[in-house]
Amino acid sequence: MTSDRQNLVHYDAVVVGAGFSGLYMLHRLRDAGYSVRVYEAAPDIGGTWYFNRYPGARCDIESIYYNYTFSEELLNEWTWSSKYAEQHEILRYIHFVADKLNLREDIQLNTKVTSARYDEKSQKWEIELENSSKIIAKYFITGVGALSASNIPNIKGIDSFQGDFYHTGEWPQKKVDFKNKRVGIIGTGSSGIQAIPVIAQEAGHLTVFQRTPQYSSPAHNKPLDSETIRKTKENFKKIRQEMYASMHGIPSAARTRSTVQDSPEERQRVYEEAWQEGGLFSLLYTYSDIPITPEANKTVAEFVRSKIKKIVHDPETAEKLMPEHYYGMKRPILNTNYFETYNRQNVSLVDLRSTPIKEITKTGVRTTEQEYELDILVFATGFDALTGPLLKLNIEGKDGITLKNKWANGVRTYLGISTAGFPNMFMITGPQSPSVLSNVIVSIEQHVDWIMDCLEYLNKHNADTIEANPEFEQMWSQQCQAIADMTLLSKTDSWYMGANIEGKRREFLAFAGGVGPYRQICDDVAAKSYEGFTILSDSQKVETDGNEKIMNRDANLDPQAKFVLEQLKVLGVPPMETLSPQEARSWTSNFSLLAGAPEKVEHVINRTIDGNIPVRIYIPDGDGPFPALVYYHGGGWVIGDLDIVDVPCRRIANQANCVVVSVDYRLAPEHKFPAAIEDAYTAVKWVATYADSIQVDSNRIAVGGDSAGGNLATVVSMMARDKGGPSIVQQVLLYPVTNHGFDTKSYVENADGYFLTRPTMIWFWNHYLRDEQDGINPYASPLLADDLSHLPPALVITAGFDPLRDEGEAYAERLKTAGVPVETTRYDSMIHGFCWMPGAIEQGKRAIDQVASTLKRTFETVRTETL
Ligand code: NAP
Repeated sequence: MTSDRQNLVHYDAVVVGAGFSGLYMLHRLRDAGYSVRVYEAAPDIGGTWYFNRYPGARCDIESIYYNYTFSEELLNEWTWSSKYAEQHEILRYIHFVADKLNLREDIQLNTKVTSARYDEKSQKWEIELENSSKIIAKYFITGVGALSASNIPNIKGIDSFQGDFYHTGEWPQKKVDFKNKRVGIIGTGSSGIQAIPVIAQEAGHLTVFQRTPQYSSPAHNKPLDSETIRKTKENFKKIRQEMYASMHGIPSAARTRSTVQDSPEERQRVYEEAWQEGGLFSLLYTYSDIPITPEANKTVAEFVRSKIKKIVHDPETAEKLMPEHYYGMKRPILNTNYFETYNRQNVSLVDLRSTPIKEITKTGVRTTEQEYELDILVFATGFDALTGPLLKLNIEGKDGITLKNKWANGVRTYLGISTAGFPNMFMITGPQSPSVLSNVIVSIEQHVDWIMDCLEYLNKHNADTIEANPEFEQMWSQQCQAIADMTLLSKTDSWYMGANIEGKRREFLAFAGGVGPYRQICDDVAAKSYEGFTILSDSQKVETDGNEKIMNRDANLDPQAKFVLEQLKVLGVPPMETLSPQEARSWTSNFSLLAGAPEKVEHVINRTIDGNIPVRIYIPDGDGPFPALVYYHGGGWVIGDLDIVDVPCRRIANQANCVVVSVDYRLAPEHKFPAAIEDAYTAVKWVATYADSIQVDSNRIAVGGDSAGGNLATVVSMMARDKGGPSIVQQVLLYPVTNHGFDTKSYVENADGYFLTRPTMIWFWNHYLRDEQDGINPYASPLLADDLSHLPPALVITAGFDPLRDEGEAYAERLKTAGVPVETTRYDSMIHGFCWMPGAIEQGKRAIDQVASTLKRTFETVRTETL
């Protein structure tokens, strides 16, 4: 700490908030030798756990995971009493840590930060306190929590109420006496659901004003036994690693099954088991498609509704308590006797959807139906989440731009930790980070550790400032929204979406890709010399490691595709060429999640044709004969199967109203060239010959495939032309392999890092071909064919970030030159394989729809010509 001429106090860092974030930040900064001051508005430390002391307040993350993990000593010296700790115990833990680390001396309590302004000249932050004093700091770090700005709704007459009035998030220190009182509570989120059963036990009468009924499952809270405590302490290093790599910051098994894979009876059993086990995410973790498809989500929603119906005795009350939104897409809620409380005589439920509140009067709450007289009114109405606490600080960055103005048209952050125009400012668990979707202490520690590494880097490079680049924050913000859009999260009104605050912009406010992948992304940014940040020293750009070129190119990568790549990295998918073909095939099954949920097709028939070629036949609803697409999956002739293309085949069958015959041709190296093309050609001949038996019109057969499957489709088109049929009306080539060569510009640009790599492609070819000579055979490398005339019209789709981009486009050009009608589309921001990832990548779905509409048009034209 220093003072300048004007007697302003200077610190290296000012931290706002003395909750879990501020305390750990203080500890790390002080340990590293920085001068630091923490300002806390409350009369004591604890943050959320200081303010949220309403009856029943407790943690919804198991207490054994809800503590700092950075210190073995702290872990060993503290023991939780129950599975879900109560507020006062958590607050005691916070005091224990603060005392142990001697943190209090650097914390100033009862001190509200009223504004913070970045001074460009001095490159320092000026922080103003409630008593008008000013503090100067190089780094401004917010640890204000995501849920600290209470939301008191703007209800007519709210100030006229003459009884006692409380908000759960600003609960008084003294005990509130509910005995024999007429109590009303507005709100049935996590806070309301925790408070209602406890208040009901004491109150004369409790009236619950409910706007949206909620899903909630029992916490099954219990004292922690000594064996659990011993095991947790003993294995904490391993547990910690699992927490760090997990989705939500608590150890959890990966979801590998989807709801459609189990019968309704089996699903019921699985849900029952999760219900009995308890835990915030237990039900959500049962099946992978619950957060993604409405149909899957409905199955678990219905299960919880059936539980509510069983618990609540009065059918009318039970009906009012039935939630309708998607399960788990608002914050899940644990409860202790919540639904049971409605069986008490002294509790009544008012459904605000049918009888909304008209006003609050001197004596109670008036709805459109009647007035409820009350002595005490409790607001459990939540928070202006994530952005609210930051905007309350009145932060002003460069060029006089306030954070409020900057975010008026949408929140923009880079990694949820910084925002462009606000140099040297860090937001611990800021918006667009996993924060509220995780065990927040894990996320806090990760952010604080990352900030400390960053400060060390800045010191090492004698840097004065670090600031996020606008284009990177644009990309990050888009990615956060894109990930939420892959799920039902963005299709649900919740405070994650800003939907609980009148006039707040609707956008998804957190990073939903998981704690583990997020950590990896942040670490990668740091490893690439803080990619996406500008680091300056005396207004000179600090030389970093020259990653800029790569960064700019990646900025064009679709955020959903980028996310898939990051997920695969986190999953630890090894490079294909390091595996045996058998191992590579078993990895392929991991990719099925990217396809999303299969849609229903009227008939799906698995059979074997011509003695030994398995096929899957998709026949749409309606009367045949239908046109047909014979489809070959990708996988470098070495991997891949019917399942990997099941989702796109279903969609094409429905959208193009055609039969799709998906072919499981023989794979290399067991069956080298030309086994795959023999099977591919046999299959198309079989469809033409036995068309009637599968409701196909033999005059309207198309072929298609992706990657190596696209190669087979080109070759089958040539073989049909050269060997007397059958007649093919369209070839659909999705990023096809067309040449045994590895030196095109797209091979150079995309050699590594974009799903299909150059070494993998070489590995595929080596398994496929018998010898070099095969490589120049036009049935292996159709780009080398002398004559491409008289081939069926082609749709060629390529991807910008794909080694095969240029050879696919070169083939399209050669077809055009040979007089073949060709439609070509390059999906600029896409990676190889995106068409079978429609569940994860929106443009994959778009490309499949393009295939279907091209086919539909061709099939219509051919039918018209035939007529
Ligand atoms: P919340 O989930 O936002 O719930 C607020 C409740 O108030 C909702 O039922 C909402 O109805 C209702 N409400 C808001 N404005 C209203 C109005 N004008 N009229 C009638 N009803 C109105 O807030 P919360 O319960 O405080 O929980 C917020 C978050 O804090 C939780 O999701 C959780 O992350 C955290 N929390 C955690 C714990 C824990 O166990 N550790 C405990 C409490 C809170 P609508 O749904 O219709 O908007």
